[in-house]
Amino acid sequence: MSLPPGIHVIHDAIALPAPHDTVRARAVHRAEYPVVFADSVEEAVKHLRTVVPDQRIALVTDDTVAALHGRELREELHRQGVETTVTTIAPGEASKTLRTAERLLDWLAGSRMRRRDVLVAFGGGVVIDTAGWVASAYMRGMPYVNLPTTLLAGVDAALGGKVAVDHPQAKNLIGAFHQPTAVIAATPWLSTLPARHVRAGLAEAVKKGVIASPALFELIERDLPEILALEPSTLRRLVHGAATVKCALIDRDPYEEDLRRPLNFGHTIGHAVETVTGYGPVLHGEAVAFGMACAARISLGRGWMTGTASTRLLTVLRRAGLPCDRAQLPAPADPGAVLAALEKIRLIRDGRLRFVLPTDIGTSAITDDVTDDEIRQALSWSPDPDPDPRTARRNTAP
Ligand code: NAD
Repeated sequence: MSLPPGIHVIHDAIALPAPHDTVRARAVHRAEYPVVFADSVEEAVKHLRTVVPDQRIALVTDDTVAALHGRELREELHRQGVETTVTTIAPGEASKTLRTAERLLDWLAGSRMRRRDVLVAFGGGVVIDTAGWVASAYMRGMPYVNLPTTLLAGVDAALGGKVAVDHPQAKNLIGAFHQPTAVIAATPWLSTLPARHVRAGLAEAVKKGVIASPALFELIERDLPEILALEPSTLRRLVHGAATVKCALIDRDPYEEDLRRPLNFGHTIGHAVETVTGYGPVLHGEAVAFGMACAARISLGRGWMTGTASTRLLTVLRRAGLPCDRAQLPAPADPGAVLAALEKIRLIRDGRLRFVLPTDIGTSAITDDVTDDEIRQALSWSPDPDPDPRTARRNTAP
């Protein structure tokens, strides 16, 4: 048989097992993708060109990001010869729905996008989660690249391939794992971020320092004023450091087979607070900060965490203007309601309520024997009056 050059015969001889043997299907998928940091939009698009050399781009963003940064990005894409079609969604968690996803799927289906073309999610966690889920579903999965524009997305949501939209029954209920082709963060996009969102993003970075990286925690302790002032080179080091820690942690268990995850630090009580306050009035990062403070108090009460470590954590949260006690939450969260929400979470999760309790800066322990009394005490803790009026003012700022 002679075939034209470049055409090869595919040779296989798969043996058949005994008819009653179990047939095993295996599908192992591990992805590796670059996470890069650019100092300008031009540099970010150059990185994008290296991972998307000749495909077309469908760019999804939200109205706020489009108004602030959309034109510059579109012009740079055009200048570097990237064919792009753009759509926007309304900003905020209310957009993270199946309805928005359906509209994006209709838009893709009506466009000239092919399976190997690339969806680009340009925005915060809401755009990234929604567009990422659409990318996971469109034609059984199309490539997507994340361009995070919030601190929270840069240090957390853009990494790890967890994509989802919310359902009235629960947040992130409709989701998938779909790993991005690349994550490209650029410091100029963060320059317009409102202070409250900077603080909320910072909470997720503090979390990573506490559970896994004293070096990251020290960076935050030392450079907090520059971070809050959005100083570009400090922000770059923060995002780079937090992304490094998150990538190292997800590398150990990329598809979350182990439910005992240190990355859930602050999230047990944090999720319950988000639920009882109706998803929105308390930002995710604010709820996580409060959850971390509660977990530290529980750990301290058990003698698992030293007073020095717990003070360091609470001091950083307070200096960052993040809520450490209930009175500082932007919306009221009644302890009884929080306990009831936790009880629901316990029922969904096989009767176990897992807590990540910090034991020091850089180490934690996971337990499911935290009692209602310990939770109630942590929720009801109230601080000494804050001697520093500047911090007190920041805590109540919008
Ligand atoms: P977001 O996407 O709603 O952004 C916050 C607000 O900031 C929005 O109003 C947005 O329009 C605006 N914004 C975005 N970039 C801006 C910029 N550069 N300048 C000015 N304004 C800007 O919220 P978020 O905090 O980025 O993300 C929260 C979402 O992320 C939640 O839905 C949460 O569930 C999800 N999340 C996902 C993961 C994950 O692993 N997939 C991890 C953590 C959080």
